[in-house]
Amino acid sequence: MGGLGMLEVVPFDDIINCIKTAAPLGDQAMVWVYAYHLEDTLFDAGCANAIGELREYATKHPIHRVFVTHNHEDHYGGCAAFLPKAKIFAGPITLETLHKPYPLPEFFEWVWGTPEPVLEARELTTSTIQVKDFTFEVLDFSGHCAEMIGFWEPEEKWLFSADAVPLPSEKKMAMPEENIPKMISRMKEIQDLKPTILFDGHWGPIPNPREHIETRIKFLSELKIQVKELSNEGKTIQEIKTKLGFPEPWYLPNTEGRFAIEYLIRSLIKDED
Ligand SMILES: [Zn+2]
Repeated sequence: MGGLGMLEVVPFDDIINCIKTAAPLGDQAMVWVYAYHLEDTLFDAGCANAIGELREYATKHPIHRVFVTHNHEDHYGGCAAFLPKAKIFAGPITLETLHKPYPLPEFFEWVWGTPEPVLEARELTTSTIQVKDFTFEVLDFSGHCAEMIGFWEPEEKWLFSADAVPLPSEKKMAMPEENIPKMISRMKEIQDLKPTILFDGHWGPIPNPREHIETRIKFLSELKIQVKELSNEGKTIQEIKTKLGFPEPWYLPNTEGRFAIEYLIRSLIKDED
């Protein structure tokens, strides 16, 4: 599908462009996903619904490298727009999906679009990357999914964090592969870095993100204690769900099991970090 997407470019400063892509809902964006453009490099590539708009962006800007943080379609769906000029890099698990995208439920086809395979993508094998004068460390942010990487520039204290910090302040559902205790640990590691700017995958750049991150750590940590107590009392996941009384958003059935409150509870009970 083409021509369905939205793209907005918001300069963060003189050298970083935020590239926001989404599908429209009326005259609004359904959900924005952020890719970041620094010099000749992109961190993530936006969603496939905006592939036409991204192709246009690629004709105006020399993008030579795209680093993909993880294998969710909103982050890698735009990669094909930057071929053949750009080299596409990702971790080994992410790479498998780039080579062979997984089929999407209709709902996500609508929200993000199905990515084209990126057969040219290759494995990122270095632990640092150089973008002109900036040296980025590649950080392991697995937790949100089996493999996710982030990019940390220690001089500027910039962190390109993809989906390491949840979008809602109170995360109330999860995907089956999400490891919530691990996400909590990752967020604590991020706090220790003391980033000046968190370049979030959906929120956009967040200056002085300490409080933003702390709110999310606190909510999930307290929820973990509550869920584990209920589990220790012998309550089932369904009973715990009823007890928590989290509202189910209207679109939850449309995700065809990709998101559920049960996954969040299960991961907190399992408590594997
Ligand atoms: Zn994601």
